[in-house]
Amino acid sequence: MAGKDNPFEIVLRQIESAKPYLDVEPDIIEAIKYPKEVLTLHLPVKMDNGKVKVFTAYRSHHNNARGPYKGGVRYHPNVTLEEVMALSAWMTFKCATVGIPYGGGKGGIACNPKEMSQSELERLSRAYALGISRFMGTDIDIPAPDVYTNPQVMAWFVDTYEKVKGWSEPSAYTGKPINIGGSEGRGDATAKGGMYTIREAAKYLKLTGKVTVAIQGYGNAGYFAAKLLHDELGYTIIAVSDSKGGILKKDGLDPDDVLKHKRETGSVINYPGSENITNEDLLELECDILVPAALEDQITKDNADKVKAKMVAELANGPTTPEADKILHKNGVFLVPDILTNAGGVTVSYFEWVQGRMGLWWTEEEVYDRLERIMVKSFNDILEIAKRHDIDMRTADYVLAVSRVVEATKVRGFWP
Ligand code: NAD
Repeated sequence: MAGKDNPFEIVLRQIESAKPYLDVEPDIIEAIKYPKEVLTLHLPVKMDNGKVKVFTAYRSHHNNARGPYKGGVRYHPNVTLEEVMALSAWMTFKCATVGIPYGGGKGGIACNPKEMSQSELERLSRAYALGISRFMGTDIDIPAPDVYTNPQVMAWFVDTYEKVKGWSEPSAYTGKPINIGGSEGRGDATAKGGMYTIREAAKYLKLTGKVTVAIQGYGNAGYFAAKLLHDELGYTIIAVSDSKGGILKKDGLDPDDVLKHKRETGSVINYPGSENITNEDLLELECDILVPAALEDQITKDNADKVKAKMVAELANGPTTPEADKILHKNGVFLVPDILTNAGGVTVSYFEWVQGRMGLWWTEEEVYDRLERIMVKSFNDILEIAKRHDIDMRTADYVLAVSRVVEATKVRGFWP
């Protein structure tokens, strides 16, 4: 994260942005702003060199008016309390956006997984799972993957949790490997949901012919977005990047070949036949669709005026600041907000949770079918609000999501 803006302050402004369009008492809005509780942990972990290292970790419970807390766990050196709080709030409004029966939670560990061995990562993951085990469970809070965590980490988490509890409870975690209760279609769910959303937005914007795309980040969200937009929609992926930099090839990249290169060399940069560019350059490229799929705080007041894409589809959480939102809107850039674009991940996590509880597993087709219906409906619900009030898509999304969280809060009442 570039680290300029406090991400939780951004969430508060986003919630406030919905107020003028809602007939809601200000005290009720106040009641849904802040996390209900946040757990901070200091985890001592034995490293391979025999020394003990202490890691700071968090789990934030933002809101559970609509259902149990739900959200991923991030491993990154820049994880902070404010970031985890913001990510947990975005989960609340994301689940409300797509109408799935969850609130919002999120976790994170300040660590650098790139400098850790697999066995160190396993010990850290198990320490975290043990630490939060009293704070979560199938009907309380259900963690999942996020930046630099994956199905293997979920397997260590759920194994630790089940050993501590003494029973099998696959729905306590989602994003697990398929052979221990994961769902078909969870691997590429975030990007798949993003693809359905981008397809609907492209129809609305009447993008036809050669549609060009630049994607920042080449992990779970970014790589699968490149692959699906290329393979299923026939778009031309002109640029992609990762933490080391980006690459540009105007006549189009082959997403799988770029992934092979990244696996062999550790980065997308220096991909044969492409030109190396910076992450900053990538955001300012001439293209139809820009997909931030890495971290927060990427499109800011300093570079928003230079964004030339017709559409920004946020697969990352929080890549655009409120000042940048205003500039993009003024410049006619159609922004599809994070809490809609990347909601496919939590939606298929919800399917995994449902399947785990039923003990009955769906086919990939069933998963994608249900996901598509939810994403298409959510996009159109928000577009309708945006048109009705003549507002940007993010504000429209917050109008919808905040109203749903408020309704649930009011009908429950306040007790004690
Ligand atoms: P990941 O760990 O799989 O990949 C992260 C990617 O970002 C890597 O390619 C990394 O090199 C790149 N990156 C890191 N720092 C960067 C930088 N400064 N500039 C450019 N690239 C950088 O993580 P992911 O799961 O793909 O998550 C990416 C974003 O998508 C995050 O904002 C995450 O919260 C969001 N998201 C993920 C999911 C999910 O299911 N995985 C769901 C919803 C939202």
